[in-house]
Amino acid sequence: MDKNSTTPQHAPFIPIISDKHLSLLLPIIIYWVYSGMYHLISKYQVPFFEKYRIRSLEETETRNKVSTSEVIKGVIVQQLLQTVLGFIAVATEEEQVLPDDNLEILGLSQTLETYTTRFGIWHYVKPHKQIMAEYSYWYLIPVVKFFLAMFLLDTWQYFMHRLFHQSAFLYRHIHSRHHRLYAPYAFGALYNHPIEGFLFDSLGAVIAFTLSGLSVKGAIVFFAFSTFKTVDDHSGYDIPFNPIQRIFGNNAIYHDIHHQTYGLKKNFSQPFFTFWDRIFGTYLPSHEASKILKENPSRGIAEDDDPQALKKSKTMESRTSTKRYNLRSRKNIS
Ligand SMILES: [Zn+2]
Ligand SMILES: [Zn+2]
Repeated sequence: MDKNSTTPQHAPFIPIISDKHLSLLLPIIIYWVYSGMYHLISKYQVPFFEKYRIRSLEETETRNKVSTSEVIKGVIVQQLLQTVLGFIAVATEEEQVLPDDNLEILGLSQTLETYTTRFGIWHYVKPHKQIMAEYSYWYLIPVVKFFLAMFLLDTWQYFMHRLFHQSAFLYRHIHSRHHRLYAPYAFGALYNHPIEGFLFDSLGAVIAFTLSGLSVKGAIVFFAFSTFKTVDDHSGYDIPFNPIQRIFGNNAIYHDIHHQTYGLKKNFSQPFFTFWDRIFGTYLPSHEASKILKENPSRGIAEDDDPQALKKSKTMESRTSTKRYNLRSRKNIS
C-alpha cells in the first residue's frame, strides 16, 4: 500500500488490498462473473433471452474452431501472465506522490481567476469560484480523463488490430487465434495469443492510463469497465434493454460482424467507439452486413486462411448453410 494513502481521500477502495493491486484483480473477477452469467444463459437456453441470441447454440458448437475448455485454458494462462507482469510493474514502480487535494483545488481556483479575468468575466465567476474549482477537481477533470483514456485505448487498439489483419504473417501466427471463434461467446473475449494480449491489452492499458493522467482509482474503474465492455461485445446476445449495448454503437452485433468471414477486414474498432472505422472506411454496419449476406449467402460460412480450419468448415457447410445473420434487430448500430 502507498505510504501516503492514509488520508480519507486516498484510503484504498477495499482496506485489505491496495488500489493498484485491485486495479489488476478486479478486471479478472468481472471477466469471469459477467461471462459466467452469459454462459449460463446460453448453456441452459434461458427462454427469455433466446430471442436476443445472435447465433444459435449449434453455430457455437459447429463453427468455432476451438473447444470451450481450450478457450478457458487460454484465457487463464493469459490472465496469469498479465497479472504477474502487472504485479512486477507495481512492485518496481516508484512511490507516487499523491496530490494534496486542497492545494490542487486552490490551484484550479487561481487558474480560473486568471482565465476569466483575461476574458473579462471574473466578476461573474468570483462568487462561485470555490464550488466551480471543487466540481472541476472531483468530477469534471476525472470524467474528461476517463473519456481521454477511452479514446487512447480505442486508438491504440484500432491501429494494432488493423495491422494484425493487414499483415498476413501477424494474422496467421497471432491474431487468427482470436478468430477461431466465428460465433463469439462471452468468456472467449480474451481468448488471444499471449503476444496479442500483451500488445493490445497490457500495453494499451499502460498507454491509456499514463497519457490520460487517470488516478489509480480512476484506473480501477476504467480497467473494470473496459473488461466488462469487452465481455459484453463477445456475449453473443443483442439485448435491447442492455444500456451498454444501446449507448455504444460498438456493441455485440458490431463486433460479431468482425468475427464473420465477410467482416474480417471491417469493424476493427474496439472496445468503445466506432469513429476510427468510419474515418478510415472500415465501418460495416449491420444493415450493410445483411445486404452482403442476402446477395451472397455463402459468405456466411466460416472459412479462414488456416487450411485445416478451411477443410473443417467445408464439411460443416451443409450444417450451417441455413444459419444466416439474424436480421431481427440489426438497426441498433449507430
Ligand atoms: Zn480481428
Ligand atoms: Zn473479438
